[in-house]
Amino acid sequence: MEAVTTRDVVILGSGPAGLTAAVYTARANLRPLVVEGEPSSTSDQPGGQLMLTTEVENYPGFPTGVQGPQLMTDMREQAERFGAEIVTKKASRVDLSRSPIAIWVDDRDGGEPDVTTRSLIVATGARSLMLNLPNEARLLGRGVSTCATCDGFFFKDRRIAVVGGGDSALEEALFLTKFGESVTIIHRRKELRASKIMQDRAFKNEKIAFVWDSVVTDVLGDDRVNGVALRDVVTGNESVLAVDGLFVAIGHEPNTGLFRGQLEMDELGYLKAGPGTATAVAGVFACGDVQDHVYRQAVTAAGSGCMAAIDAERYLASLGET
Ligand code: NAP
Repeated sequence: MEAVTTRDVVILGSGPAGLTAAVYTARANLRPLVVEGEPSSTSDQPGGQLMLTTEVENYPGFPTGVQGPQLMTDMREQAERFGAEIVTKKASRVDLSRSPIAIWVDDRDGGEPDVTTRSLIVATGARSLMLNLPNEARLLGRGVSTCATCDGFFFKDRRIAVVGGGDSALEEALFLTKFGESVTIIHRRKELRASKIMQDRAFKNEKIAFVWDSVVTDVLGDDRVNGVALRDVVTGNESVLAVDGLFVAIGHEPNTGLFRGQLEMDELGYLKAGPGTATAVAGVFACGDVQDHVYRQAVTAAGSGCMAAIDAERYLASLGET
């Protein structure tokens, strides 16, 4: 990674948003540097959330589907082909008040910045909150999922459990009733957190059953999920619910810690952007799940990555320096 010269574009994040922004800015001859993150945990790694899925059937252009990790490898290769430089490092600090913008990596947060840039595309994504159960990560993509839109189709006529009691859980559960034989919502209390309208819909749906006052203590199965272990938090009773899939829907967390106090965020911590992908800081653009808690799809993330690249390109042109 070249430290001395100021870059035109640095992209933080290497999911579909970041890598699409890389393809576009590389093809615009802006020689982007992608700081792709470090494989530090299952929920926050280079390539983003698609690295945690198996088959992706709803990304246009792949009539027979594509494996999530393969799609990301291909996007990476495509960006590199046009001259994007990708470094496997995690940004540890950014200073957006400086011009050019300053970035530090590798846990450094002082001294000379590791890289400076005229524009910054933030594509750091979001992570699904997980239950952190002993077998949850092992069975991810093998019956454990965090996205009904992505994986619901694989559970045709299957028994499905959804954990959580908020709008996400109910939305996932309602969507899953289109596929599953049954959908059981497991919630740790007796009252749902979700909005009244979502509750009404869920209560009315004949395919949806509820297990109240219960927590999932583990996911069961060797190669695929075949059940979940439950504990009733009131009685302490332990039981097993036979299911083929477990959808974890206990919330998401945007990866915005780096920007706290520097970029505007909504009440859920997602970056505020617009018009287009512009943030309130000149030259800083946000795309993908870090600024979207509504759609959260690979294709929408990629689309907004393209928008950010075009916005950055126009911004740089307006500076008259490219
Ligand atoms: P949320 O509102 O924070 O709900 C999370 C749910 O998961 C809560 O019911 C919580 O239980 C449960 N939970 C959290 N940690 C858990 C754990 N370790 N074990 C078991 N259960 C756990 O999150 P969300 O549902 O993702 O919604 C986030 C925001 O987006 C909300 O403002 C929501 O209204 C909005 N949203 C809106 C829509 C829509 O309007 N269509 C759809 C999705 C999301 P407790 O209730 O006991 O805390």
